[in-house]
Formats: sequence, structure tokens, C-alpha cells
Amino acid sequence: MRIDIVSIFPEYFSPLDVSLIGKARARGILDIRLHQLRDWTHDVHRTVDDTPYGGGPGMVMKPEPWGEALDAIAGDVRRLDAEPGEVPGPGAETVPTLIVPTPSGRPFTQADAVRLAREPWLVFACGRYEGIDGRVVEHARTRMPVEELSIGDYVLAGGEAAVLVMIEAIGRLLPGVLGNAVSAVDDSFAPGAMESLLEGPVYTKPPEWRGLRVPDVLLSGNHGVIARWRRDQALRRTAANRPELVAGMGALDERDRRVLD
Ligand code: SAM
Repeated sequence: MRIDIVSIFPEYFSPLDVSLIGKARARGILDIRLHQLRDWTHDVHRTVDDTPYGGGPGMVMKPEPWGEALDAIAGDVRRLDAEPGEVPGPGAETVPTLIVPTPSGRPFTQADAVRLAREPWLVFACGRYEGIDGRVVEHARTRMPVEELSIGDYVLAGGEAAVLVMIEAIGRLLPGVLGNAVSAVDDSFAPGAMESLLEGPVYTKPPEWRGLRVPDVLLSGNHGVIARWRRDQALRRTAANRPELVAGMGALDERDRRVLD
């Protein structure tokens, strides 16, 4: 997967060199390219913001540098299958999906991470100040799929931290990134059995620590009983921490209802 990130703070992304994502980059699974938005300005101050039309506090990111940045990046259509100078081959028409992090976007969920992990090319546009001039997204939608996504109901100072969150969630799902791909299957929110559930507590050795024992069932070796116990724990934790998720699960079977009684 190729990922382009446009930001006025490309240095913010040094965490992408470490851990799972860093290894995925080193192994060529992830091709992440950082871009300084100011490189597409033409004034001596490399200005990317201006006062908002209609008045109000703060500054708004100007459309021109964003337009030029997206033209340059999305216009790089030879990226998947050709060397510089080569005639574009099949797949040359591929356009990226543009992701714009914003608190006013649709909530970013595990289902989005799963879906976006199947895309060959994502471009992330990191806003700052009061956000990006609304025409940038409007124009980009005429040329490529655009998704405005929020990572939660709070306001960050910029899109960089949100992009790090999304790339980690997406990147760990790419084939070959997780040491054990099954671990993603048991995660909270994972499609399938865990879709609307939070994962319950997990344990490792030693079996007893500071007088606290690992639940006996986990030492039983009975995989059916262990799976059922884990689901019960997930149900209880979800009901306690995110009751709206349980409410959204529809009719529970008899056994699930008993667990929650
Ligand atoms: N005035 C904007 C509003 O109230 O919706 C907030 C702008 S915020 C200070 C600056 C940038 O941070 C946004 O353009 C976006 O890129 C990013 N950002 C802030 N909170 C975010 C969130 N919850 N999810 C995703 N991105 C966020």
C-alpha cells in the first residue's frame, strides 16, 4: 500500500519509523511518503493560512497550496507499476482515496480500517488552525473518492495525531504486518464474532501474581469452554463500558442474556 501524507509538520510522523509500521515500511509492505504543504506555496513566507471569510476567530488553510499538492500527488499516476520515465502501464489510471481528518467527519471505526486496508493508495490531508478551505474537499471529490473522518468527539490541534491513529489501525491489518494475523480477529470491534464487542481481560504467565490467580478456565486447555468464557467476559465488559453497543446488537440469545442478568 502506498500512503502519502501532506502536513505542515512532516516531522510529526517520526513514530511511523518504529514498531510494526516501521517494520512494514522496511519490508516494503507500506510505502509512506511525507510531503511539506509549504512546498506548494509561492510567497517568501510560505503562507498556508488566511483569515476566515464571514469573520470569526482563528485562521483557515488556503486552498491554493492544497490544490497544487493534491494535483502533484494524485497526478503521480505511474506510481504502482512503472519506473520514472517509463510509459504508464495497466493500473496507471488508479486514483488514491483522499482521507481528510476532521472532528466534523464521520466516526472512524474498525470497519473503516478493514475497508481502507484493502485500498492500494491513500492520501491523508492534515488540517491545522480552523481547518482547510471547504472548496478543497469539494474540488477533490470531482477527481477521487474523499472521506472526511473523525477519530473521536474532541478537538485536536491538527490532523497529524489523527492520521497516526488511522495509519496504525489500517497498517496493522495489512497482510504480513502482524506476526500472528489471528490476533486481529479477536480484537475489540473485529468483524465477525467481536463486531460489537470489546475484548475482555487477557493474561499471561505466571499463573499467580501478587495473590491474584489467572482464571482457571484459561488453564483448562478446553478451547470450547475458553471461547465461551471469553465471549462472556466481552459481553460483560461491553455492557459496563459501552452499553449502547450491546443495545445495538439486537435480540441476544438466551445464554448471552443470562450472562448480562
Ligand atoms: N474548527 C474545527 C472544528 O471545530 O471542527 C476544528 C479544527 S482543529 C483545531 C484543526 C485540525 O485538527 C482539523 O482540521 C483536523 O485536521 C484535526 N482534528 C481535530 N480534531 C480532530 C478529530 N477529532 N478527528 C480528526 N481530526 C481532527
